[in-house]
Amino acid sequence: MLAAYPQISEAMGLAIVSALLGEKPVVANHLNVPKPSEGKPTLLTWDEVTTAFHEFGHALHGMFSNVTYPRFAGTNVPRDFVEYPSQVNEMWADWPSVLANYAKHHETGAPMPKELLDKVLASSKFNQGFTTTEYLGAAMLDQNWHQLTPDNVPAADGVMAFEADALKKDGVDFAPVPPRYRTPYRSIMFLMPIAIAFAFTGLLDQVITFSILSGLLGYTFMSFNITKFRRQWPLGSIVRGYEHPFHPLPAIVLLLLCAVTYFAVFLGYGTQLVAMMVFYIAASAWFAFHRYKYVRRGDQFTMPWPRPAGY
Ligand SMILES: [Zn+2]
Repeated sequence: MLAAYPQISEAMGLAIVSALLGEKPVVANHLNVPKPSEGKPTLLTWDEVTTAFHEFGHALHGMFSNVTYPRFAGTNVPRDFVEYPSQVNEMWADWPSVLANYAKHHETGAPMPKELLDKVLASSKFNQGFTTTEYLGAAMLDQNWHQLTPDNVPAADGVMAFEADALKKDGVDFAPVPPRYRTPYRSIMFLMPIAIAFAFTGLLDQVITFSILSGLLGYTFMSFNITKFRRQWPLGSIVRGYEHPFHPLPAIVLLLLCAVTYFAVFLGYGTQLVAMMVFYIAASAWFAFHRYKYVRRGDQFTMPWPRPAGY
């Protein structure tokens, strides 16, 4: 089943596998396909095609769930196996004989040219060196933390040194590609109880407004950061990919847009606006007064850049 143009477009695809009818599995694949503009046909991107193949792999796994040992049925399998059937099925998407079956031009019916497929496949390898290295770094770091015995856990001020040693030991201490997640990253977990309480007590529109406001707050900070960045690393101090000729005009325009949006939100969702502000001020205060006692702020700068003033 393809769910066309669903309202919530956050998840790309989703396989829902259940055993609603006794032993007969019921499997639904949902794929979020953006609505085309008026008069245009609905075409799938390569990403959507591979997602459809992937989710159908889960569907097949679910449909073959009439097994002797329930441990091997559908999502009962161990976590590291559950993605196996979907990965295998995803592999067929660019398999020449399979591709020839479905990848046809929507007007002429001509098969997808080999050069085009080669380009698509080549572009999917773009930046994989970076992506793989950064997640490998995070994964190895994770393993190092989880293999510690209670007596070997370093004190709070030894956390970053432990991280550096672990990365070095595993050969993933490559400064231009820091691990995807640094050790103090998960300290955000302390906010979980608040988030859960909020999710259970807030009305849906309020939760969504709160979430949108978090994004808005991000843009507000961005306008300050643009100016701060230019001041901390003045022109000429680092190599820049692009220099905006009208700096700081974009920052000012962004800030104005944010101000207008805050006012509009205040008119409709004043309580949420106040709640969001209180929440983030409290969270920031916790970081400033508690977390930074244990983490050297300068450690976040792993790039071989000149350190900014104040660090
Ligand atoms: Zn999957």
